[in-house]
Amino acid sequence: MSVSAALPAGVHVLERGWLSSNSILLGGDARGTVLVDTGYCTHADQTAALVAQSLASNGSTLRLIVNTHLHSDHCGGNARLLELHRCPVWIPPGDYVHIENWNEARLSFQLTGQQCPRFKPTAALTPGSVLEQAGLGWEVHAAPGHDPHAILLFEPLSRTLISADALWEHGFGIVFPEIAGEPGFDEVEATLDLIERLAPAIVIPGHGPVFADATRAIAEGRQKLAFFRKNPDRHARHAAKALIVFHLLEVGQQDRNVLSDWLQRTPIHCQLHRRFYAAVANDSWTAELLQELSHAGVIAVDGDRIGIAP
Ligand SMILES: [Zn+2]
Repeated sequence: MSVSAALPAGVHVLERGWLSSNSILLGGDARGTVLVDTGYCTHADQTAALVAQSLASNGSTLRLIVNTHLHSDHCGGNARLLELHRCPVWIPPGDYVHIENWNEARLSFQLTGQQCPRFKPTAALTPGSVLEQAGLGWEVHAAPGHDPHAILLFEPLSRTLISADALWEHGFGIVFPEIAGEPGFDEVEATLDLIERLAPAIVIPGHGPVFADATRAIAEGRQKLAFFRKNPDRHARHAAKALIVFHLLEVGQQDRNVLSDWLQRTPIHCQLHRRFYAAVANDSWTAELLQELSHAGVIAVDGDRIGIAP
């Protein structure tokens, strides 16, 4: 039996890459389909087309969009999808006011140098509540760590977990609070403990394929967490590289000078440098990061042109 065969009826995963999160369609309900997460804005038309195709094949309409958290790769398609489907959008309560007022200083988009078209939320997706769809009750659980306000969705009959960036098959998302000097590692641990207690039979992560062996993934997550706790500078380095890769996925190839300028202007890059690697000049540190990414085969350097390795 394939992994996808174990998903509850009506659940369809649109597996994407790393620039756009996965989107999950919860169908099988006469009221319409629920869409969980909408990817990055530069992929919004592609997301819209994939969603339209799935809805058409099931003769369904979109009744609701929900976001697991408000990062640009999870809610960047909201504006486009809302334009097309005019449905409500529910988001975790922690960032509700800042999204409602589009308070850029309190949202992550400016900090990370990423884009997200403005959208209006309709209601909060509050931890402790249950999202009813197709006769199933998807429990909403707080999942802080990667993002203080993130939630995950768990359906207890099939034991299906929508984990977003709290648990991937190999690890978890950057622990953003730690970059800002706020605690996050304890929250990651508590969220991994929560997932262990939920004992999912199948996990739909925010990035990468659906997987069944949550026990193994949790163990790997704990190992990574232990390493980052001991070496917070390595977490910072990992975060800095991940942000460069995300940027190159967005822009394609870029001249080294243009990329360096962008990094010097991007608050989170400067924050990481200042807090963890201030002993090295920022441009030397940036050059080190690019060299490491190149050696790891993640990026390709062709003269002064830098891009994601083919
Ligand atoms: Zn995220």
